[in-house]
Amino acid sequence: MAEQDSGQESRNQAAIVVQGVHKAFGNLHVLRGINLEVEPGTVTAILGPSGSGKSTLLRLINQLEERTAGDIYVGGELTGYKRLEGANGPVLQRLDEKAIAQQRSKIGMVFQRFNLFPHMTALANVMEAPVHVARVPKARAQEEAVKQLDRVGLGDRLDYYPSQLSGGQQQRVAIARALAMHPQIMLFDEPTSALDPELVGEVLGVMKQVAAQGMTMVVVTHEMGFAREVANQIVFMDEGLVVEQGGPEIIDHPHSPRFQAFLQTVL
Ligand code: ADP
Ligand code: MG
Repeated sequence: MAEQDSGQESRNQAAIVVQGVHKAFGNLHVLRGINLEVEPGTVTAILGPSGSGKSTLLRLINQLEERTAGDIYVGGELTGYKRLEGANGPVLQRLDEKAIAQQRSKIGMVFQRFNLFPHMTALANVMEAPVHVARVPKARAQEEAVKQLDRVGLGDRLDYYPSQLSGGQQQRVAIARALAMHPQIMLFDEPTSALDPELVGEVLGVMKQVAAQGMTMVVVTHEMGFAREVANQIVFMDEGLVVEQGGPEIIDHPHSPRFQAFLQTVL
């Protein structure tokens, strides 16, 4: 592949570009050369068995971990580093914390465990980051938080504490909380895996609606119905590699034996 030319082009268009990314924890080589592109306004579903490196990949995209090798671009910008011309060719210089925080603010993340502040109402949870991180004036942050809670169907639960909400409602608050920071990209790491089965649908419904409104999303999930129906791109990972990748139709027509075997376990 003519990496210099075509790579540059796609970097400018794609919302996320992951190029030759490796991650090792000590001797454990968790990601072994991941390449991935996510187009703006699309949904990518990442599938794969436990331990295949899915969460690590999301955490690298959001700079919660540092990659061992490779490049990650978000919104056309190299993340974590500045490329400088050295005497012997380009060298990477680590960005300072402020620049990294600025890059991270483009991304919202939703985890399996909702991690809401237990002593704060739904409204206060959603207002927290806008007020204390983004320094949005309180009145405006509140207006925005009400809007986002409405968006996830919780306009009538503003003053409820997490303990007074179902798991599905708590996860919807977590989604509203991420949306309140106006991210360009939303990452979801098994957002429904901790929920009772009857609560999964309401969370997937909200995610589907956010996708329909044009959000760029990367979703690690075992919900094949959601992947098939909502995702534009399916990525199957195993043992730190992308083993198979394509449109949603690959769920019904998997090529690789490993993807076939995985689908047997989840379908
Ligand atoms: P998945 O999300 O696909 O289940 P993970 O990305 O969580 O996989 O983990 C991939 C592998 O990396 C696992 O073997 C896991 O134990 C290991 N791992 C993840 N995070 C760390 C860490 N901070 N330190 C050491 N090993 C880790
Ligand atoms: Mg995981």
